[in-house]
Amino acid sequence: MAFKLMSCPYCGTDIDDSESEFSVCGRCGKRIYSDRANLKAFIPEGEYEDSFKEAVECMVDERVAKALAIADELLEIMPGNPDVLMLRGAVNAYMGEDGKAFNDWKAGLGKLENYTNSDAYMCLVSKSVADLLYYKEVEFIEFDHIRYIDSLSEEFDEFLKTPCKFVLYFTIFLDYIHRIRHDDEVDREDLEDVLPDMITRLVSYHRNPKCLTNIVDYYLKRLGYDNETYEDDDMTSWHVYYLLSEGIKSRLSTLTREHLESIRDHWNDENMSELEEQFNNILKDHGEEGRFRLHKKKDVEEGDGESVEKSVDDYVSKYLLLLENRDTPEE
Ligand SMILES: [Zn+2]
Repeated sequence: MAFKLMSCPYCGTDIDDSESEFSVCGRCGKRIYSDRANLKAFIPEGEYEDSFKEAVECMVDERVAKALAIADELLEIMPGNPDVLMLRGAVNAYMGEDGKAFNDWKAGLGKLENYTNSDAYMCLVSKSVADLLYYKEVEFIEFDHIRYIDSLSEEFDEFLKTPCKFVLYFTIFLDYIHRIRHDDEVDREDLEDVLPDMITRLVSYHRNPKCLTNIVDYYLKRLGYDNETYEDDDMTSWHVYYLLSEGIKSRLSTLTREHLESIRDHWNDENMSELEEQFNNILKDHGEEGRFRLHKKKDVEEGDGESVEKSVDDYVSKYLLLLENRDTPEE
């Protein structure tokens, strides 16, 4: 695995980096699974445990018809059971049936009464979605990955009463990285093409600044970003990420625990869409294409436009809720 989760993917609270199967978030009380590829964490103990396991094994072995038959059989025995609905949704996703998968998951999550173990469902869903997206990619089926994940997370938010965008993107991101590294049969370029959009979402929807810089630094290292040569390397978009990470890190040590908690409590998927928009605008203005545009513009009006440093600094201040750069200082 690329790296470990150091914070609760739902509320942003630091979690113990334990070696056990899951950590319990001290704030929201959810069990957070360390192995994000765990497809069986949701399986309930008891009479039908083995059937659930068999269905999951068939599903990943591409014996999807058999997996679906088991899920349907379980649903006949336990109509409306959330665990079975979540399972059948996953099987549908593995079959490329995005709409049916979505409906089963919505029905399953709608029946939940306790959210302590909902991360187990999110592991199942994310892994199945990653498979679904990959299937659409290799079959050349036009499919808006980002829109699908966004719409899932928006509806899941309501059912689970917690922001879900980050957890879905993060788990799918890890799955893609894993496939690129370990699966010889995947088309690496196709997957690599999807990653930058995912990174933008991860950056915009992360509630834990320290963890956010870890993700960015990991990815920059993976790309071979070099701050000395990024312009010649045509990596000006990634320079924006670099400035973001450095900007956050330079301020982290000055932030108190209370301040960090207020950042975590302030942001949710809804208001973080502002951050996403702002970040995308910076990329538009200062990324590869923007640089070209600004250069051309510069020929006409010398020195026009905001520097990338200033734009990113404003973003960091907004994200870290730093009053000094706000419109209405408190004095
Ligand atoms: Zn939490």
